[in-house]
Amino acid sequence: MVEHGRKTSGKKDSPSELPSRVTVGGHQLDVLLVERVDRENSEGAMSTQKGYILLKDDLGARSWHVFLHEVLHAIDEVYNDAKLSERSVEHISQGLYQVARDLGWIR
Ligand SMILES: [Zn+2]
Repeated sequence: MVEHGRKTSGKKDSPSELPSRVTVGGHQLDVLLVERVDRENSEGAMSTQKGYILLKDDLGARSWHVFLHEVLHAIDEVYNDAKLSERSVEHISQGLYQVARDLGWIR
């Protein structure tokens, strides 16, 4: 089942809503929550050609981290010739998540 990224949340302490769509260098990417991302059971995936970011629908508090990870893959592909290693993408997205949380951009 495919759901849109936007989830209704009324509570103050609940996680910030994920955007339903993000644009990276002219590529519009729909953010879709899915039961299964791929055969390897990844938590997320993205395709600038197909225009989506897929996130597992049961990530809970990890969903923003995985979202930023996939956004960084898209930025790397569009602006950096996909030169970042998987390890670098993971570490930088962890750093982005920490800074964004501390600034109160996301909860
Ligand atoms: Zn990755």
